[in-house]
Amino acid sequence: MNKFALIGNPLTHSLSPVIHQAGFKSLGIDAEYELIETDDLVTTIKQLKSGGFSGFNVTIPYKLPVAMFVDKIEPSADFARAVNTVKIETDKTLSAYNTDIIGFQNTLADVSLQGKRAAILGTGGAAHAVVAALALMKVKEITFFTRSIPNALDKLNFMRKKFEDITFHIHQIEKIGGLSEFAILVNATPIGMLGNSADMQPVSRSALSTMGADAIVYDLIYNPRKTLLIKDAEKLGLKTINGLDMLVHQAAAAQEIWFNDAPAAANTAASTTAASTFSTAAPALRKKPSIPLMKLAALEELA
Ligand code: NAP
Repeated sequence: MNKFALIGNPLTHSLSPVIHQAGFKSLGIDAEYELIETDDLVTTIKQLKSGGFSGFNVTIPYKLPVAMFVDKIEPSADFARAVNTVKIETDKTLSAYNTDIIGFQNTLADVSLQGKRAAILGTGGAAHAVVAALALMKVKEITFFTRSIPNALDKLNFMRKKFEDITFHIHQIEKIGGLSEFAILVNATPIGMLGNSADMQPVSRSALSTMGADAIVYDLIYNPRKTLLIKDAEKLGLKTINGLDMLVHQAAAAQEIWFNDAPAAANTAASTTAASTFSTAAPALRKKPSIPLMKLAALEELA
């Protein structure tokens, strides 16, 4: 039996077990996936290595610190400046990846953003992965909207060096007026999340209404499935994507790393929503290069 886990703290509402179990089932693989809520990263990693695990996912607050305990940082983790997937090799060495990049990119598999402008709300960890994905999709400009420009300047300078082909701008989130120039707007803040600020949205409806008819509104939040931002964008007739799609695609990409193979045809009869979403994700993934190929080709090309 293959064993996998998610480490982080807190993990109370994690959807990862149901998504991964659905993935294992659709691949016909006998595996289990457990939640390990921990405040002792070092001991937990030792236990994962000695406990017969083949890999694990990483979430808040360990996406950065876990990098200190791995043997190899793959380019995806380097570009995202965060680790969300670790493979435990047979010799017990650890390789670190970030699958949020390909998870985001794969949800936009049928969209071309080449030469276009993107807007990102927030400058945290997820925003960084989104930038790496948008760089692979060859956008020409990225504008961040943040509540604190001084706090974001270090990150902005890092990105300007790392992604030289992209022009970056930064503005105050409270002062968003028009969004007409953007082909895509990505919410990478928790504004609109259940239990945080579900009754709020990060941009006003009047600002949203300035977006072009073909524009995409992408909310990384997956709980609720439809945030107020997504609901408003739908009412305006804009294309919308919610965070569950990305969550499922990043999980599928993690399984691809763990099993060294693209997910097989989805033949699951699992009844959960997550399982059916995974089934949709799996064929889409097969159309894309595998993570190792992407690592070698696209990410290293950007270096
Ligand atoms: P993070 O590192 O804490 O970053 C959050 C960002 O939002 C920061 O830039 C923060 O600004 C900003 N922010 C927080 N509250 C704000 C407010 N009231 N007004 C304006 N800006 C605010 O978190 P993260 O890991 O990037 O996650 C961001 C969101 O993406 C979360 O909702 C998370 O659930 C979601 N996510 C989804 C997926 C997926 O697969 N769908 C994957 C990863 C993350 P400061 O820098 O000023 O604090």
